[in-house]
Amino acid sequence: MRFASVVPDIPARALGRSFDYLVPEGLAGQIEVGSTVLVPFSHRDVVGYVLAVSDEPPEGVDLARVLPVARVLAAPAFDEAGADLARWMAREYACPLSEAVRPFLAPGQTLHVRRDSPDGPWVLVCEKSGPVDERWVRLAEGAEGFVPRANASRQRMVIEALRDGALRMAELSATLPGASAAVSALERRGVVLVEERRRLRAAEQTTLSSAAAVRPERLTSGQQGALAAIERARKARSGDVVLVDGVTGSGKTEVYLAAIESALAAGKGAIVLVPEISLTPQTLGRFRSRFGDLVAVLHSRLSAGERFDQWDLVRQGVARVVVGARSALFAPLLDLGLVIIDEEHESSYKQDSSPRYHAREVAARLARLRGCALVLGSATPSLESLLRCDLGGFGGSRWTRAVMPERPGKALLPRVSVVDMTQQFATGRRSLFSAPLMSALEGVAQRREKAVLLLNRRGFANFLMCRECGCVPECPHCSTALTYHERGHALVCHSCGRSWPQRAFPDPSTRCPNCGSRYLGAYGVGTQRVEDELRMLLPADVEVVRMDADSTRAKGSHQSLLERFDAADCAVLVGTQMIAKGLDFPEVTLVGVINADTTLKLPDFRAAERSFDLLEQVAGRAGRGGRAGEVIIQSYWASHPAIQAVVQHRRELFLESELADRREGGYPPFARLANVLVWGRSATDVRSCCDDIARELRVRVEGHDGWEVLGPTDCLKARVKDRARRHILVKAPMESDLGPLLSSCMAEVPVPRGVSVALDVDAFDTM
Ligand code: ADP
Ligand code: ZN
Ligand code: ZN
Repeated sequence: MRFASVVPDIPARALGRSFDYLVPEGLAGQIEVGSTVLVPFSHRDVVGYVLAVSDEPPEGVDLARVLPVARVLAAPAFDEAGADLARWMAREYACPLSEAVRPFLAPGQTLHVRRDSPDGPWVLVCEKSGPVDERWVRLAEGAEGFVPRANASRQRMVIEALRDGALRMAELSATLPGASAAVSALERRGVVLVEERRRLRAAEQTTLSSAAAVRPERLTSGQQGALAAIERARKARSGDVVLVDGVTGSGKTEVYLAAIESALAAGKGAIVLVPEISLTPQTLGRFRSRFGDLVAVLHSRLSAGERFDQWDLVRQGVARVVVGARSALFAPLLDLGLVIIDEEHESSYKQDSSPRYHAREVAARLARLRGCALVLGSATPSLESLLRCDLGGFGGSRWTRAVMPERPGKALLPRVSVVDMTQQFATGRRSLFSAPLMSALEGVAQRREKAVLLLNRRGFANFLMCRECGCVPECPHCSTALTYHERGHALVCHSCGRSWPQRAFPDPSTRCPNCGSRYLGAYGVGTQRVEDELRMLLPADVEVVRMDADSTRAKGSHQSLLERFDAADCAVLVGTQMIAKGLDFPEVTLVGVINADTTLKLPDFRAAERSFDLLEQVAGRAGRGGRAGEVIIQSYWASHPAIQAVVQHRRELFLESELADRREGGYPPFARLANVLVWGRSATDVRSCCDDIARELRVRVEGHDGWEVLGPTDCLKARVKDRARRHILVKAPMESDLGPLLSSCMAEVPVPRGVSVALDVDAFDTM
């Protein structure tokens, strides 16, 4: 008898484990680790995922009471190592096991059991993206005489199904798991014919004239050193980690490409994660031009159908290199040799819904499970990774750092200077552009070169502020500072999306809601205003391209804007954070930062690190070609170590002050941090639930060295969409079981109806 261990897809903490079922004779060949099945569970059927199969009866269970699996719903999406990883995620990130399994499932697959009224029947809802398959399968002439072997039950079922005529392959696989293997076997015997008319969705095309697509003649010595370290790590087959610490433009991407090439030659595949924001056509183009159709792309801007196609190419073994956002980590790639995480310091590697995993940590675990190497690359590595390399290892893996301090060829690091904006203001200058930045822009226009201007908009930029009392109007439903949009003169809440015409807020007289002053003015600027002023100040033949959330909303607009910038002979690209990374245009000679300070003023322990990263990254867009580059940073806080480190090209200035602060405050990378977030419509319920959790946590950590429970307090955004938000911070020693402690605590605390709790282990920010 065969048994399957199945985790029911019920997202309840109390059911966060797997249950044993019997595999009925008829389904024996179809139930494997990773299959989606239908199983009986407390008097109804539920969807579940198979985490293990065994011929041994489960221990301590009355066999007479073990129920059989009812149906098989989908073919395997992961293997044993995947199941192990899911179990680890559930433990580490304190989430129900069924939620930890979700990232592994085929994109677009939503299978669940639902009933429409309390007493109504349960119905199975199947939404699966199949391939847009124009592949049809039909019986060949003379198939009648073929008799499948006795144990080839799937072949028999396929033949049965085709008796009434041809079927689309997608349909066949959806109703008959394992059909594709059976079809191939039958095809080899000439019993069925497959007519291939498959159309693939999502083949992004690019016309960007990227010099980067060309293979360099030889690697620099820094690149060779990094490549050698990666090769060693891959051949060690033990989950070793290599941090490629290379200045911007030092050729990290070339190192990844070379490392993948040699992995492929050894029969190994690779997964490459890049931040969502830099999943630009330019980046993808570099991988496609080197590896062609071996590349599959997975990210959230693709439709579910497109993602399914790409995922399926990986599962079939056709695609051997997966490039994508953090979820690409779970792609069903066999014989994994390398996992590469580019810009590993990026916040987008932390998922902000359950399972709240960090891709770096999951990748390190995956590398150990599969015996492959993990490569982390950045010009501004996270403090976590730097510290682990200094220690020589972490969590049982070896961590080494490969430094690439120079750019290849004649490209030099740009000259960086900072303009003190308080002085500009004192001398009566009211323009967005300081005198030095303006004259540098004019120089670019005269020499027919290109410039990039960054408008730092994370944080509180671009709001309306009372010039007399400093009050900033907030959304009455969320405690978010309203942002001011110049076109249309509207105030918009970025939490709930509500907007008001400026004149109607807070009342028609447009007075300060706090002191009644009439001097309510826009503070901070938007990209539109920068664009408008540039058009006025610069000669008409300088192309101005604006790239922000508004101008890139439509599909493909990101690419067409970059193509416009690329094609122009002299141009300025104005944009938000999204332009800081990944762009590689050799003609860019000037980078300007309009306002460096907004992120520095965020009340979060990573504020300085994020500001440093952003400035260093955007500075790196200058001088990538033969011509020297210049960077001008406008700031009200010019002496801050994060800014001085960029100006002087001395990261240690920033690291020294920041590491000292973190060590003293007991923050990562010297401790672990979890954010327990509680929210709901009733402020009273939220408050009492949060108090209960904090009390329970304190009981558990009392007397344990290095543990600390802070709060509860209101979140920085104390209301969002009319829901009150409070939180508790838990600090724990580096190698502690933070996740299990949170899970066991939540098992004891009842959460009232209408209140939600999120456990964010290794929280990236605490806002
Ligand atoms: P990074 O990823 O570190 O920012 P890239 O890989 O994008 O750097 O490389 C920056 C530029 O240098 C690209 O235009 C790339 O084609 C070029 N480049 C990289 N390696 C070499 C090399 N060994 N010789 C010459 N040019 C190189
Ligand atoms: Zn006021
Ligand atoms: Zn709002």
